[in-house]
Formats: sequence, C-alpha cells, structure tokens
Amino acid sequence: MKRVIAIANQKGGVGKTTTAVNLAASLAATRRRVLLMDLDPQGNATMGCGVDKSKLTVSACEVLLGEADMASALVTVEQSGFTLLPANQDLTAAEVRLLSLPIARETKLRHALQPQREQFDVIIIDCPPALNMLTVNSLVAADSVLIPMQCEYYALEGLSALLNTVEQIRIAANPGLSIEGVLRTMYDPRNNLANEVSNQLVAHFGDTVFRTVIPRNIRLAEAPSFGKPALFHDKESRGALAYLALVGEMIRREEGANVVPRPAPAAASATPPQAPGQPPAPHPATNGGEHHDGVAGVPPPGAPGSESSLSKDPS
Ligand code: ADP
Ligand code: MG
Repeated sequence: MKRVIAIANQKGGVGKTTTAVNLAASLAATRRRVLLMDLDPQGNATMGCGVDKSKLTVSACEVLLGEADMASALVTVEQSGFTLLPANQDLTAAEVRLLSLPIARETKLRHALQPQREQFDVIIIDCPPALNMLTVNSLVAADSVLIPMQCEYYALEGLSALLNTVEQIRIAANPGLSIEGVLRTMYDPRNNLANEVSNQLVAHFGDTVFRTVIPRNIRLAEAPSFGKPALFHDKESRGALAYLALVGEMIRREEGANVVPRPAPAAASATPPQAPGQPPAPHPATNGGEHHDGVAGVPPPGAPGSESSLSKDPS
C-alpha cells in the first residue's frame, strides 16, 4: 500500500478526524511508514495526537504557503509510531491567501508534499468540513479519497456535491484520483434508521462501501482527550479493533483477494444487516484473523499474504 488518502466529507462531525488519527495509528502498527497531515484549522487531529496546536512554530499553514519546507514542520508522534504535519487556526489565513493567488493555488499541497512522498508508505490527509481550497488542495495531492459517513437521515445529502468536486478535480488536475471507499462511522446497530440508511448506502454504492463498520464507541470519543489514538488508549476496545479491521480490509482489497467473510459473533456485534444480495459483513473486530506482531488481522508490509511487491517501494 503506497498512496496518499484524503479523508473528506464536507459535513462536520462525521468521523473524519477520528478516522484519520486511528487509521494512521493502525497502519503504523503494521510497520508502515505513515504521515498524517492535518489540513483542518481546528487542529483536532493535531491535538488528538498529543501535539499542542497553540505551540506550533511551523505548521501546515507555512508549508502550504511555501514559506517553510514540509520537512521542517513534521513532528514525530513517538508513541503512535507515525509522523504528523500539525495545524492550527493559522490555516484559515493560509486559505484566504491561497484564494488570492492568481495561479497554481490548487497544487500547493501537492508540490509541498512531493519531496516527502517517498519517505512514507501511506499519507493520510484530514480535511476540514468544507469543500474549500484546503479540501481542494488535499484532493489534488491525493491518490484516493475515503469518505466517512454517519448512517443518519441526511447522510446522503451533500455527497453528490463531494463526488462532483472529486470529478472536477479528476478532469482539471488529478486524473488518477479514485474513491478509496465509503466508511460507515459511529454505527449503532440498535438504531433502525441507521440500519436503513446503511442498506441504502450499500445499495447505492455497492462494493465502494467498506464492509468494516466503525461502531459508536466511547473509547474512540475519549481517546483524543488523552492525546492518543484509541489503539494506545484501549487497544482491546471495539473502536480500536474496528480501525485495525479497516486496515485489514484495505490491504485485502488492494490484493484483490477473494476473502470469504467470517460470520460475526453474536456478542457486541456492530455489523449492520446487509442489503439483499450482499454477503454478510464480517464483524469489525474479526475481519481477517491472522496475527502478526500482535495486530489482529493486519499483515505487515512484506509478510506472506500482504500486498504485492509491486506496491512496495523496492528501495
Ligand atoms: P469530523 O472530523 O468529521 O468533524 P470527528 O472525528 O471529530 O468528526 O468526530 C466528531 C465527534 O464524534 C468527536 O467528538 C469524536 O470524538 C466523536 N466520534 C467520532 N467517531 C466516533 C465513534 N465511532 N464513536 C463515538 N464517538 C465518535
Ligand atoms: Mg475533523
């Protein structure tokens, strides 16, 4: 797996930042070299990694404006094993300045990232809750976009605007931009409406919807207050396990392997019912089942059954 993934949805509160931070930690746990870029002026991903956004001297703002090298702004998040490009409210000013540029304002992030791309296997971008110049820069710099969605009444609203933006960016600047997948977040299987919307999503988007479902889980919500991904707050929590399972699914999708889903155990299941004709979704915590270095279901790079050597940089 070697790509830049933008986590985008212009709705706020759908789980973008939670997904970005926990996906970064889960990928790092498989010994992949991971960079998490915070592109939201709220700096939630930065704080969620335990970095104080009020004490940044160099951040995503200066990098985006070309006033500092990406390398000079990067912070190693020791415990979590990945690297962070931190952000704070200065990014709002950066966005305004970008808008005033006559040319190349959409490609600033891509160019800033270029010297760092080979240093990392996976680069994750946490986008702001808007289809603004920061999100456009993220989508132009990305290889794929992962869309977290809450299964609630207005979930689909705004999705067509996001998909239109993706299409426009494909045409104008980034023809290779693909949809990584739609991720159901904060899922509560006891909620009938959530089940209905989930089925609609699967009926509409088919295999684009990840089978892994992120359950509503208190550990995911409280981990940021400790400045940690859930994996380092409570590694046995359903939330932490769900994000590990997501990584397993992403890797297996890339392999194109025909994985027969396992039946979910009855207890603590967060798996929604599937639309007619859909295979049963595996339980988030039991996707896969291999154990490598204590990370359930997620092969490290180069392990037997992990992604092909094509996707790894041979150098
Ligand atoms: P966004 O980045 O899209 O605005 P966040 O990731 O910040 O969304 O999530 C919004 C709120 O919901 C946060 O308080 C977060 O802790 C909480 N949250 C996100 N995902 C979950 C989950 N799976 N279970 C419980 N709370 C969650
Ligand atoms: Mg956010």
